[in-house]
Amino acid sequence: MPPGASAPRKQAAGGRNGAESPVYAFLEKPSLIDYPGCLCGVFFVSGCNFSCGFCHNASLMGAKQKGIPWSRLEEVCRKFKNEWVDAVCITGGEPTLAADLIKLIEFFRGFGFKIKLDTNGGSPEFLKKCLPLVDYVAMDIKAGLSGYSELTGFKDTGKIRESIQLIMDSGKEYEFRTTVIESVHTDEQMHEIGELIQGVKRYVLQAFVPQDTLPGTEFRALKRTRPERLRQLEKLMAPCADEIIVRGA
Ligand code: SF4
Repeated sequence: MPPGASAPRKQAAGGRNGAESPVYAFLEKPSLIDYPGCLCGVFFVSGCNFSCGFCHNASLMGAKQKGIPWSRLEEVCRKFKNEWVDAVCITGGEPTLAADLIKLIEFFRGFGFKIKLDTNGGSPEFLKKCLPLVDYVAMDIKAGLSGYSELTGFKDTGKIRESIQLIMDSGKEYEFRTTVIESVHTDEQMHEIGELIQGVKRYVLQAFVPQDTLPGTEFRALKRTRPERLRQLEKLMAPCADEIIVRGA
């Protein structure tokens, strides 16, 4: 999930018991910011193949955890339908690691929701299967490829490039986004990112917000991204994408 997004709180199972869904937690209130132009429910899948020290959801890192029952998920979706929710965002963790993600997408589709998938791009093989089933994809670009391993612990950067291409070719609505940490995202790193995403429709720059609970202690004392740095990068990255969006400036 993108650092800075609303953090999940594990929900009590409630309702009838039932088989376990891949959803670990959800936001009780619908969100106006997680799906452009839609009121959406936000659902978190646990487990991640990256180990970003700046992750705002350390509880979702590492191995997959027990999910809430499908029956509880059904209750939540019915409630959201009554509240005029028209979309869902499946985020994590890294949702594409969940073996039953496709079942989850079909489940949400059964309620008529539009579907947005958040991904770190580390599993293009599975992403390829999901893309035809979703409406919108948001992929994090953590750094230039030379910086991925150090920042995220993920070394197979060919997969990042592959996921970018898959999304660009998918015909779906999409965005690529970078959470800007000033000491990490130097102009040099941003030029590398620019080469990676050249020609994309939408690229989002978002502010890094420090927290005492970040898993990497070295990130806790860093400052929030300055608005002037985000505006600088908006200009720097302008030639790379049709549209640049700045969030948190
Ligand atoms: S990709 Fe990084 S920031 Fe996102 S959930 Fe995994 S560890 Fe956290």
